[in-house]
Amino acid sequence: MDQLQPRVHSNAVYEATKEALLRRGVTIQEIANIVFEMQIAYNIGLTIEHCIESVESVLKKREMQHAILVGVELDELAEKKMLSAPLQQIVEADEGLFGVDETIALGSVFTYGSIAVTTFGHLDKNKIGIIKKLDTKIGNGIHTFLDDLVASVAACASSRIAHRTRDLEEHNETFADITPDETAPETKVEGTTT
Ligand code: MG
Repeated sequence: MDQLQPRVHSNAVYEATKEALLRRGVTIQEIANIVFEMQIAYNIGLTIEHCIESVESVLKKREMQHAILVGVELDELAEKKMLSAPLQQIVEADEGLFGVDETIALGSVFTYGSIAVTTFGHLDKNKIGIIKKLDTKIGNGIHTFLDDLVASVAACASSRIAHRTRDLEEHNETFADITPDETAPETKVEGTTT
C-alpha cells in the first residue's frame, strides 16, 4: 500500500519544517543562541556559526522534521479552536500533567544520544532564550508543543557539537581550526552519522 502512494520529497519536508518554525516565530539563529550558551564552556573556538550549522543539520533529520510538523500543527489547530474536547482545553491550557508534548520532542532527541537527552531535560526545566518566550502563556498564542520541540532541536545540536569536539581533539584540533562548513561530514553520535 505504502509503495503506491506518491511520496513527499525530503527537501519539501525540510523546507516545510523550517517554514513551520519561522511561521511560529522561531528562527534558526535563536535556536543556535541556546546551543552556543549550552556548549561554549566546553568547546574551544566555538562560534555561533558552528551552532547554526549544527541546528540546520539536526533539522535535516526526518525524525525531527516529523516531530516538528506534528507539534506545530497541533498548536495551530488549538489556536483555531479546532481540536475536540477535552483535548482542546488541555492543549490550550498547556496542562502540566499532559506530557505528550515532551514525549514527542523526546522521541527525536534519542537519535543524538545521552548528551542530547540530559541537555533536553535541562532546557525543559530551565527554559532558556526563545524557549522561555514561548513558554510565557499569556497573550502569546499556543506553544504547548513548540517550546519542547525547540528544546529538542537545541539539545540535539548541542550533542552534535560535544561529539564533534571529541573527534577534533583526536586530531589535535578545536572548533577554532575549522569553518562551520567543515563540521558536518564526519560527526558521529553514538553510531549515528549525522
Ligand atoms: Mg510544552
